[in-house]
Amino acid sequence: MDQAIKQIVIVGGGTAGWLTAAIIAAEHLVDEGRLAPNPLLRILLVESPQVSTIGVGEGTWPSMRQTLQKIGISETEFFRCCDASFKQGSQFVDWQQVPSNGRSSFYLHPFTLPVGAPDFNICPYWLAHRQSVSFADAVSQQAELSVAGFAPKFITTPEYSFVNNYGYHLDAGKFSQLLQRHCLEKLGVQHLADHVSGIESASDGDIAAIVTTNHGRIAADLFIDCSGQQSLLLGQHLQVPFLPQQQVLFNDRALAVQVPYADAEAPIAANTLATAQAAGWIWDIGLPTRRGVGHCYSSAHCSDEMAFSRLYQYVVTTAGHTVADVLSPKQLVIKPGYHEKCLVRNCMAIGMAAGFIEPLEASALALVEWSAKQIASQLPRTREGLDLVAARINQSYLQHWQQIISFLKLHYVLSQRDDDVYWRDHRDTVPDPLQAQLRLWQEQVPSAVDFRYQDQLFPAASYQYVLYGMQFTTADYPQLKPSLKRKAQELFQQNAQRVSTLRGGLPTVRDLLNKIAQYGLPPI
Ligand SMILES: Cc1cc2nc3c(=O)[nH]c(=O)nc-3n(C[C@H](O)[C@H](O)[C@H](O)COP(=O)(O)OP(=O)(O)OC[C@H]3O[C@@H](n4cnc5c(N)ncnc54)[C@H](O)[C@@H]3O)c2cc1C
Repeated sequence: MDQAIKQIVIVGGGTAGWLTAAIIAAEHLVDEGRLAPNPLLRILLVESPQVSTIGVGEGTWPSMRQTLQKIGISETEFFRCCDASFKQGSQFVDWQQVPSNGRSSFYLHPFTLPVGAPDFNICPYWLAHRQSVSFADAVSQQAELSVAGFAPKFITTPEYSFVNNYGYHLDAGKFSQLLQRHCLEKLGVQHLADHVSGIESASDGDIAAIVTTNHGRIAADLFIDCSGQQSLLLGQHLQVPFLPQQQVLFNDRALAVQVPYADAEAPIAANTLATAQAAGWIWDIGLPTRRGVGHCYSSAHCSDEMAFSRLYQYVVTTAGHTVADVLSPKQLVIKPGYHEKCLVRNCMAIGMAAGFIEPLEASALALVEWSAKQIASQLPRTREGLDLVAARINQSYLQHWQQIISFLKLHYVLSQRDDDVYWRDHRDTVPDPLQAQLRLWQEQVPSAVDFRYQDQLFPAASYQYVLYGMQFTTADYPQLKPSLKRKAQELFQQNAQRVSTLRGGLPTVRDLLNKIAQYGLPPI
């Protein structure tokens, strides 16, 4: 038990594997931006040449900016190598109602917090204005600007800084390649392309070694399972129970396609578009050279043929028949759920190996970043220390999963759609804790006190954007203090003024990406 942790083996070279390798290596093998090899720590990533990566995952959170900066990747290089663009939030189309007479509606969940946050919760002051202005437009300069296709910064704004908070849309395959190159060339990570064909246990139940087809047995002190949905080490070998979530979030299939632009200078959407369908939703992600489009649906409510036909129709509407007629979608099977713990004995699962839920708020990579940062920052010196940090990490991991599931469910249960039993089934399966929250939010707006655990993934503001975007009704606050009403009024006005000023100055997403390709962003 007092054995030192000197050798870390990561199984899997998808985005989870390489991000984890980079985050741990940047924390332990780099000093002041330079490789500072630690003779006491070796990080080896083993990936199978036979098993391909999942190859999707094109939307990230703003946390990815901190991650890329921390692991030492230049943002200009990232944009150029990964066919990347800006993501400023998610735009939910037709979620509240089926479009009538061809008229769609939408709301935005932007990444920028409401004006005044975190010290001042402006939400109660907006309630009186709900008939004249949407919540997102009233409290966030990002709403109108991103929907209009403006970039979140200027070409003179340094790398990773912003005017409006942003994450990325990217090509998942190119991103993995960049991470791999960076890990091998700059971060001292070692790499082995070989298939893991067996796992050996130690007498105490720990994992002693993996067995590879061509390089035999590889022992380690800590194993990180990034083997994707099959969860080779944590799920299959250690038999950590899997908690299925299909009874709450029904979507278990996706059809993904790549859609070309009509011309190379076509506008690029600044938000992920998520358009509700009869039994699921369609994502639409704008990259510089193409769109990534996919239909996520419930196989219990919709056949694959019907799902394809809805995806086809969407592409016809947004790109025309010529493009839609040659689509060849890739089908992905999703097993919604997560393992009860992520860190057990000397093995931690990160990414799809730990769990996965439909990508409605693109939380998967954010959870990968969180998990990798946890083990990197709390990496114990000895095996005994691992058990001590495991309890803490597992507790936060569970809280994150519970919040993700409840927050995603919120998107469905507020819908008034009735075009398929799918939506009714969602409204009929609201978990009790979410029911209780919804009752509370009829009386008072979501605030930080509603979420009692630290470092939650979705702050109160995210709930406000979704609830009020979906026309949820919270009772008016009759006794707001006049001084605070004035303060709120000033903030609303400042927000509106910033929008009109920035409208005149910010480049469009396409313009800024062209400039980044040509000149680069100022380094920090
Ligand atoms: C439809 C869909 C849309 C998504 N959209 C988003 C999104 O917008 N945003 C987001 O954050 N996430 C999204 N995700 C999730 C995201 O794709 C994954 O979280 C991310 O790609 C990480 O995957 P991974 O590395 O865990 O697994 P994988 O990419 O599956 O990688 C598994 C790795 O394990 C290796 N491996 C497997 N078996 C063996 C073996 N026996 N020996 C050695 N190596 C082995 C494979 O070779 C591979 O390298 C989406 C997922 C789906 C299904």
